[in-house]
Amino acid sequence: KATIRLDKMLGNLGYGTRSGIKILVKQGAVTVNGKTAKDHGMQINPNLDIVVLDGETIRYRDTVYVLLHKPAGVVSATEDSRDRTVIDLLDEDLAVLSPFPVGRLDKDTEGLLLITNDGKLSHELLSPRKHVPKTYRALVSGEVGAEDAEAFRLGVALDDGYVTMPAELSVLARSKGDELPSAAVEKHAEEMAKAIELAPREEEPVQHAALSWIELTIHEGKFHQVKRMFEAVGKKVLYLRRVSMGPLQLDPALAPGEWRELTEEELDSLR
Ligand code: URA
Repeated sequence: KATIRLDKMLGNLGYGTRSGIKILVKQGAVTVNGKTAKDHGMQINPNLDIVVLDGETIRYRDTVYVLLHKPAGVVSATEDSRDRTVIDLLDEDLAVLSPFPVGRLDKDTEGLLLITNDGKLSHELLSPRKHVPKTYRALVSGEVGAEDAEAFRLGVALDDGYVTMPAELSVLARSKGDELPSAAVEKHAEEMAKAIELAPREEEPVQHAALSWIELTIHEGKFHQVKRMFEAVGKKVLYLRRVSMGPLQLDPALAPGEWRELTEEELDSLR
């Protein structure tokens, strides 16, 4: 939706409460495209309409930078005929600025997704020449080990023949069958146990299967890359979460589906 209510726009900018703005409009203090506004709830397109309050031209903010903890089940797109999109999760007053996701996470992938209307920044982060690192944590079937780390370091051939660039793989925790996950660091075992709960159940649970909780950093972004890299070494990603992209980290305070605007420090780190 490309419009926002006049009273909401002025309210967001700090010109008063909704009732205060209603009075301003009633007093004829606000013009829209040169005509006195009559309805405080009228729809404004902040990119096209010129709003003047007491002779002062009001500029709505023009940029938006959002850090979203993408939940599973929503698509990384601005519009979709069937599914909810990541933009549907934002407030109307940010959605009105036409933001879009910087790159894509699969529908079933969770984790860090930057949403902005800054085309230049998006282009730089996604440019294949920049090799911006992206780090994922994943629950993987089977025992991921040193051979897999070595294979990923050298590059593996995906199903279409593409050979991946060097990537860094480490195993954070493991479990086998009904065993509880074990890890050198307690928090990894806990995180893995949560990931096991989050992973969608196959119809027939695999008895006594080994599972690995891993961290993988890649420096490119091919379609379904992490899942296809594990397929290349005969293993399956059961649950996937992105934890960082360039200097941005997933904020542990954000539950899946929650978001916040970037801080000044985060913005500076991207520039
Ligand atoms: N790799 C994948 O396979 N899926 C994602 O969503 C991101 C990286």
